[in-house]
Amino acid sequence: MARPINPRRVFSRPKVKGFIPMGFYSSDLDTIYLTVEEYESIRLKDYMFLSQLESSEHMGISRPTLTRIYDKARKKIAEALCEGKQILIQGGNVIYLEEWYLCSSCGSKFNSMNNKENPTKCPLCGDTKVEQIDS
Ligand SMILES: [Zn+2]
Repeated sequence: MARPINPRRVFSRPKVKGFIPMGFYSSDLDTIYLTVEEYESIRLKDYMFLSQLESSEHMGISRPTLTRIYDKARKKIAEALCEGKQILIQGGNVIYLEEWYLCSSCGSKFNSMNNKENPTKCPLCGDTKVEQIDS
């Protein structure tokens, strides 16, 4: 049986859902699917200019895993760029560190910081009436 993969830590949701080459309709194009963790590896390394080690620590994964995710992401983006494919950013196994939750039982607000998954239970009262809110 395959070992379950811990979710990768991602700071916040990507600003856009994807990209379409100019002058084309989405329905006419082949699609490259970039996972959210692949997007995050590009953001950390190529946009924030973090090292492999720093990026892997941010995402809570080993350096070899980060390298594998990052290499995949670059290949996908290059393919889209060179072959005129659209990119959709979706899927993956992630938690968003920046997202906040509200417990409708006790009214406390909390985020998923340092947890292994998005909270389903209030850390204060233990109730499961927890919903995501805009920070
Ligand atoms: Zn509560």
